[in-house]
Amino acid sequence: MVLAQLGGTITRAIQQMSNATIIDEKVLNECLNEINRALLNADVQFQLVRNMQNNIKRIVNIDDLAAGHNKRRIIQQAIFNELCNMLDPGKPSFTPKKGKTSVIMFVGLQGSGKTTTCTKYAYYHQKKGWKPALVCADTFRAGAFDQLKQNATKAKIPFYGSYTESDPVKIAVEGVDTFKKENCDLIIVDTSGRHKQEAALFEEMRQVSEATKPDLIVFVMDSSIGQAAFDQAQAFKQSVPVGAVIVTKMDGHAKGGGALSAVAATKSPVIFIGTGEHMDEFEVFDVKPFVSRLLG
Ligand code: GDP
Repeated sequence: MVLAQLGGTITRAIQQMSNATIIDEKVLNECLNEINRALLNADVQFQLVRNMQNNIKRIVNIDDLAAGHNKRRIIQQAIFNELCNMLDPGKPSFTPKKGKTSVIMFVGLQGSGKTTTCTKYAYYHQKKGWKPALVCADTFRAGAFDQLKQNATKAKIPFYGSYTESDPVKIAVEGVDTFKKENCDLIIVDTSGRHKQEAALFEEMRQVSEATKPDLIVFVMDSSIGQAAFDQAQAFKQSVPVGAVIVTKMDGHAKGGGALSAVAATKSPVIFIGTGEHMDEFEVFDVKPFVSRLLG
């Protein structure tokens, strides 16, 4: 994971600074510039990096540093807090309750890992004694229903979809109604992705959302999309009320910065991360351990 490199670079920059005989504004700036470069390389959006730098400069008292207090600890703590703040939108996402029906709609571009993540999310809850169900409202991509069906069958999770119906809204509503009647407590609606952010996709999402009235809309994002993360997340948020983010493919060449950008753009927390293609390669996301790992 490239995250480790980010931690290494930041630690080195702080080390270099604390080795300097005199800590003045210039030395602090050099350190912060180095950290900025590391964050940009890790795909954190430019504006977020700028804000972070300004905040750190406001928090870190140069006199404290010069007076020989533990410089490394002071700066590291400031960076830790800033990264945590960036990943914490300040309010938790809707949390479904076992035994009470919740509808969760998943949105994201094609290839982001949306269908895989829907199953992982269902499987995760099923193992904890929930009664999940999967609805395939992706009528755009040929093979989408088969893929969901295959995943669902493997995990022994009930599913709903159609090979012939072309109206995603109709399928979504029928699926949700069917599973409500069956007393499923977690009804997961997988939607169409398309390759690009385009008006038709957003319109379709809006319609499915209005018709099924989900309790939560989860935006699924591929962590390897780099600096595009902020704009992509923002575009989805502007179309439907995204309430949570799941970042996939954190096992690959992921640069974790995309997660920070997605949180900032959607003002919604990351709730899980995908760490592989298998059903159980799925982790609850906690801000503090993530940032600790990031800083090494
Ligand atoms: P969708 O088009 O958004 O529904 O994406 P899919 O669920 O079909 O996933 C696209 C590809 O990404 C598939 O080959 C998945 O196996 C793979 N994938 C999904 N999540 C992860 C993950 O967390 N890690 C890895 N390595 N691959 C993933």
